[in-house]
Amino acid sequence: MIFYGRQYIDKFDEKAVVSALKSSHITQGPNVEKFEKLLGKNFGSKYCCAVSNGTSGLHLAGLALGWKKNDIVLCSPISFLAASNAAIYCNSRPDFVDINKDNFNIDLEKLEKKILFYRKKGKKIKTIVATDFGGNPCNWKKLSITAKKYKIKLINDNCHALGAKYKGNKSYAAFYADIVVHSYHAVKNITTGEGGAVLTNNKDIYNKIKILRSHGVVKNKTNSNPWNYEMRFLGYNYRISDIQCSLGISQLKKLNNFVKKRNSIAKIYKEAFSDEKLFKIQEIRKDDYNGYHLFPLLIDFKKSGKTKLGLFKHLRKKNIQLQVHYTPIHLQPFYIKKFGYKKGDFPISENFFKNEISLPIYFNLELSKVKKIAAMIKNYILK
Ligand SMILES: *Cc1c(COP(=O)(O)O)cnc(C)c1O
Repeated sequence: MIFYGRQYIDKFDEKAVVSALKSSHITQGPNVEKFEKLLGKNFGSKYCCAVSNGTSGLHLAGLALGWKKNDIVLCSPISFLAASNAAIYCNSRPDFVDINKDNFNIDLEKLEKKILFYRKKGKKIKTIVATDFGGNPCNWKKLSITAKKYKIKLINDNCHALGAKYKGNKSYAAFYADIVVHSYHAVKNITTGEGGAVLTNNKDIYNKIKILRSHGVVKNKTNSNPWNYEMRFLGYNYRISDIQCSLGISQLKKLNNFVKKRNSIAKIYKEAFSDEKLFKIQEIRKDDYNGYHLFPLLIDFKKSGKTKLGLFKHLRKKNIQLQVHYTPIHLQPFYIKKFGYKKGDFPISENFFKNEISLPIYFNLELSKVKKIAAMIKNYILK
C-alpha cells in the first residue's frame, strides 16, 4: 500500500537504536544533548531543546512566551491543530487568519487586517504561529516586519519544512522567528518515532523551555546537598529519550537526501498537473527550496464532474491511499462549540479543503510509481 507519507529506516538507523538500547542511559543519556547540538548546527539556531513531540514543543513555546488567559494567538486554519490547541492549553484564545489562495500559507494582508481589527477593540495579539505549509516557507521577511511593527512574537511551526530553504538560506526559521518548532513524527521529513524540538536564538526562552520540559525543576547548585532540587514553575514531562535521539542523529545525516528525493517527486507532479484548467499546485518563490513534507494538489472537482470520494476509492482499489491536509481547524466540532466559528468564516481555507488532496511523497517512493500515480489521477479526472 502506498500512503501519502512514510518513514525510511535503514541499517544505520537500526544500529544506532540498538547501541542506545545497550547503553547505560536509555532515557537521559548523551545522545539527547548530542542530537540537540547537531540540530542547532544544522538549522542554524544557537539553542535547541529536543522534546517528546511537536505538540509539546508548541506548548512549551507558548509557555516560554508567557501565553496566559485571554491572550490572542493567531494561526492558519489550514495546519495541524497542535498549535491552536497549545494556545488553549494555556487558556489563551486561538484565532485564525485565512490562507493565501496561491501559496497556501497564512495570508499576510489579511493578517495585518486582523491585527488592526483587534487593535480597534483595544486588544493586542500575543503571538503569530505561522506554518510553512507543506514545506513551503512563508514570506518570513514580510512576516517579521509585521511582527516587529506591532510588537508581536513569532513562532514558526516548521514541522513540514525540515530541510527547506528560504531565499537560499537553510537557517531562515530561527533567524526570523522567535521560536521554531519541529516534529519528528514518522511521516515527517526525518523521524524519531515520536519526537520534536524547539529551536531559538534567545537564551532566556531556551532556559525557560529547558526547565519546563522537565517538571519546572532545577537542580539547586548553590545548596551543598547533592539530593536537592527545586521546582520553580509548573512544568511537564515533555522529555525525549536517548533511544529516540540516537535514531534522530542517524536520520539527520540523511535529511538532505530525503528532501532532494522529495523535490524530484514534486517535479514529476508539477509537470503532470501544470494544466491549470482543473488542477492547481502550490506557488513557490523561485529562490526558495521546499521541504515537501506534503504535495498538495487542488482539483476543481465541481468542474471536472468527479468527486473527491470517487477519486479516493478509485486509487484505493489500486492500493494508493490519498490523504487530505487539513480539515480547517475552525470547523472542528470542538472549535465550533467553544468559539462559535461557522462555515464561511475563512472561505479560502474552506475552498482549499474542498479541493485538496495530498499526493504520496516520501523517500523510497520510486519515481516510476510517481509517474503512474499522476497518470491515474489525470485519467480519472479528465476522462
Ligand atoms: C506534525 C505536526 C505537528 C505536531 O507534531 P507531533 O510531533 O505529531 O506532535 C504540529 N504542527 C504541524 C504543522 C505538524 O505537521
